[in-house]
Amino acid sequence: MAYLDHAATTPMLPEAVEAMAAHLSVTGNASSLHAAGRRARRTVEEGREALAEALGARPSEVVFTSGGTEADNLAVKGLYWSRLAEDPRRTRVLASPVEHHAVLDAVDWLGTHEGARIEYLPVDGYGRVHPDALRAAIEKDPSDVALITVMWANNEIGTVMPVRGLVAVGAEFGIPVHADAVQAFGQLDVDFGASGLAAMTVSGHKIGGPYGIGALLLGRAHTPVPVLHGGGQERHVRSGTLDVPAVAAFAVAGRLAAERRVDFAREVGALRDELVKAVHDVVPDAVLGGDPADRLPANAHFSFPGCEGDALLLLLDAQGIECSTGSACTAGIAQPSHVLLAAGSDPDLARGTLRFSLGHTSTAADVDAVRRAIGPAVDRARTAGLM
Ligand code: PLP
Repeated sequence: MAYLDHAATTPMLPEAVEAMAAHLSVTGNASSLHAAGRRARRTVEEGREALAEALGARPSEVVFTSGGTEADNLAVKGLYWSRLAEDPRRTRVLASPVEHHAVLDAVDWLGTHEGARIEYLPVDGYGRVHPDALRAAIEKDPSDVALITVMWANNEIGTVMPVRGLVAVGAEFGIPVHADAVQAFGQLDVDFGASGLAAMTVSGHKIGGPYGIGALLLGRAHTPVPVLHGGGQERHVRSGTLDVPAVAAFAVAGRLAAERRVDFAREVGALRDELVKAVHDVVPDAVLGGDPADRLPANAHFSFPGCEGDALLLLLDAQGIECSTGSACTAGIAQPSHVLLAAGSDPDLARGTLRFSLGHTSTAADVDAVRRAIGPAVDRARTAGLM
């Protein structure tokens, strides 16, 4: 088997499994005052410190959530509501059109249900938002912008955004910027403090931690209106009993992701380059998606002219190669990727995509498997497309 879908989820690191297992049999609600509760609280606070250190943040800036989706929703909806409460003119949301659906659909929901005016920022052919484009959008009326949300790196095509430049423009106008760093964490130098972001999303299961846990990194100056109400945990912005074993395991994975990042990026990047070359050797007209250079080191994304991505995916799956088309489907119907369409791709070409994403268990054997299988799979998918 060649598992090449690490951007969807990557295997838990053995160290994280060990930490999780150790804490599963320990009782204690981190909000309880007795000894068991205090022990659980210590585990949570140590985990918070470890994640903060891994991400260049202060411990008090780490707000645990149930994952990337929840953190994105809290950032987008919560910051929109809090900024609007401060000034009723702030009804405009500036977002990149290549966001993950956790941001995109949250933003759209604000437009449909909360009277927000959503403005999608222009992107170049690599799906990148340029600071000048952001400036032009803000300058239409700087007083009415509630927030800016642009991901750190794209989950489909791997393009890295100029986060520092975008934050600098937002800062000139005093507008908070949120970045979804779910795919960037562990692959790029993600330093929350140095970035100047108001809020940043990370997720456990993308970095070798467990499913169902993530965090919103949240600057102390920002208090989003909560999406979940209840016991007032996590600075009163995210109520709910904390998942202590998951926090412990997420913290271990986060620490290791940060410690190993430079070597990991170099090694996985070299393997990814081999994979790109292998595909181009066999299918010369395959089009590499995203920025060829400034991209996530573990991401290889292709469009195959004349193919349906789903057909290719299943043909490779039958050969033991697990990858993704990169785009989500709606009610089981394959749609051309919104990311590629925003980046100006031809809709037909955007239907024939595959994303190979590598990770800590990837080997040269995985690349060889793709080299052997991709030619026949593309031939068959093209023939099927002609029928
Ligand atoms: N944001 C990005 C960029 C992602 O790739 C994903 C997962 O696919 C998410 C958010 C959602 O994270 P989670 O699965 O933790 O809810």
